[in-house]
Amino acid sequence: MTTQADPNCVFCKIVAGEIPAKKVYEDDEVLAFHDIRPVAPVHLLVIPKHHIPSTKELTDDDAGWMGRLMVAATKVALAAGCADGWRTIINTGRIGRQEVMHLHVHLLGGGNEPLPIM
Ligand code: ADP
Repeated sequence: MTTQADPNCVFCKIVAGEIPAKKVYEDDEVLAFHDIRPVAPVHLLVIPKHHIPSTKELTDDDAGWMGRLMVAATKVALAAGCADGWRTIINTGRIGRQEVMHLHVHLLGGGNEPLPIM
């Protein structure tokens, strides 16, 4: 688990309050906020507050907080009104189309039709 904030990381800056975000949930370990370029009626990002670049760096030691991150994502989805379902997407690395190298869960939902594949 990487714990040092990365001074060049945009999501670490959001955690630190150095750049603004529309926050919807926060606890000791997790922050959730609106994606700046939404691709669905609800598009939120759920992130660990500590810096870890991607799921590629996960080890057995990370199972606890990573599990709590996913539970937080469910709370966030339900609080956002996505009772009929949502998509959770985690991109990893270049091949996985990850652009921001701070592990994050995309939470997509809203509307009345099943969401497109993205
Ligand atoms: P991709 O852009 O291929 O989905 P990622 O999985 O790395 O790559 O997603 C990064 C997400 O972070 C993008 O959806 C982008 O719109 C979002 N994003 C980037 N900067 C900010 C920001 N300052 N505030 C909120 N969302 C941001």
